[in-house]
Amino acid sequence: MEIYILPVSPIFPNSLEGDSISTLKPQGTRHGFNIAVKIALKLSKLSFKSLQYSFDIEQRAIEKPKSRFIDLMISEILKIHQPKLQLPEVRVSRRMRSTLGSYMPSAKQIAISSRLLAMGEDGDIREVVMHEVAHAIVHARFGNKPSAHGREFKAVCKELDIEPRRYVDVSTEKWQTRIRYAARCKFCNLLVVRKRRMPFARCVCGSKIYPKLWEAISESERSQDSDWVMI
Ligand SMILES: [Zn+2]
Ligand SMILES: [Zn+2]
Repeated sequence: MEIYILPVSPIFPNSLEGDSISTLKPQGTRHGFNIAVKIALKLSKLSFKSLQYSFDIEQRAIEKPKSRFIDLMISEILKIHQPKLQLPEVRVSRRMRSTLGSYMPSAKQIAISSRLLAMGEDGDIREVVMHEVAHAIVHARFGNKPSAHGREFKAVCKELDIEPRRYVDVSTEKWQTRIRYAARCKFCNLLVVRKRRMPFARCVCGSKIYPKLWEAISESERSQDSDWVMI
């Protein structure tokens, strides 16, 4: 089937000049084009099927993972166990790979891995967050004196009813199969999604693209607004 060639240059006169991903914005006024894209996508899904996904960015289909429910969980725990302690919003880190969570006492900052947030089981996320909250409470009560996973930490873990382990047992092997990579087609502005970072890819608009950057993404389970989250 060769039905998805779109009129690229008349509608996007600048699109051949190589915009970077970050400067391309959805264009609200190009309805005709968008309808064409949607039709093209439908048709292309038939022909490409497992080979690729592409979608219209106007669906707000990709976003940063949200950690609001974690902030709520933390504030509920602190209300009970350490009411005077206030922590800043959890930082979601896209750099943390082997680390799942961390606590930086100087900034009272809990960080968790975006991969954990996007692909971890709820119980795993809770365990990681609680571990870091335990560190925060130890620091609030005893300052820098106690050793990281020492007596004070164990006591706080007992109080929070969690295992005082140094490591959290989360199986991350299956995550790898769920990671996808997205690049923007500079000709039609759609995202092209692949299982691997490829030197080049064919967009549904028919153009061949050579992405400098493939963003790691995952299908989102916790977000209702989007199909994908950045990880
Ligand atoms: Zn720890
Ligand atoms: Zn394209």
